[in-house]
Amino acid sequence: MQTIRDLCDEYGALMILDEVQTGLGRTGRWFGYQHYEVTPDIITMAKALGGGTAIGAMMARPHIAASLVPGTHASTFGGNPLACAAGIAVIEAIEEEHLLENAKTMGDYARSRLEALKEKHPVIDHIRGKGLMIGIQLTAPGADIVNGCLEKGLRINCTQGNVLRFMPSMVVTTEEIDLAVAVLDEVLTQGEAQ
Ligand SMILES: *Cc1c(COP(=O)(O)O)cnc(C)c1O
Repeated sequence: MQTIRDLCDEYGALMILDEVQTGLGRTGRWFGYQHYEVTPDIITMAKALGGGTAIGAMMARPHIAASLVPGTHASTFGGNPLACAAGIAVIEAIEEEHLLENAKTMGDYARSRLEALKEKHPVIDHIRGKGLMIGIQLTAPGADIVNGCLEKGLRINCTQGNVLRFMPSMVVTTEEIDLAVAVLDEVLTQGEAQ
């Protein structure tokens, strides 16, 4: 991240971070970049910002925002009052329900439970991530595991062919994480027996 910031500064480029998935508390901070000692010039947000309502937003440092004057950044539905009201409600809910804290505590808990699972199942290479954005790096393709979990009511997906993406709800509880880990444990055990 620091190298990217330095390169942008050296060449006069803007550092733009896509915070659609990492933003709005998912990693335990408001934005993912806050885990690093850098300040981006522009960040993007969507999905979680609307809590189910369609919204996309861009935030820029003041000197860049000042260059966006009326007419240079048109959008039919830009500034849509309903979407903006939903965005404000989401931000308030994150604050009032202490969801940054929950993402950190539950994320740490989930990671410790998944680390324990790693000791049992050699197909797990390592666990990585921040807050409630967790990747389970496998040593083999994960498609069968995804299907096995789905059959038992756990929705998880697989990216890059061999990374299970563990991104539970922002209001997840320890009981729910325990349930998910138990299902994953069961599916991995079944896979090893085959
Ligand atoms: C969904 C997604 C987008 C696209 O967001 P739109 O609101 O559909 O434009 C961009 N980046 C990431 C990381 C996403 O997950």
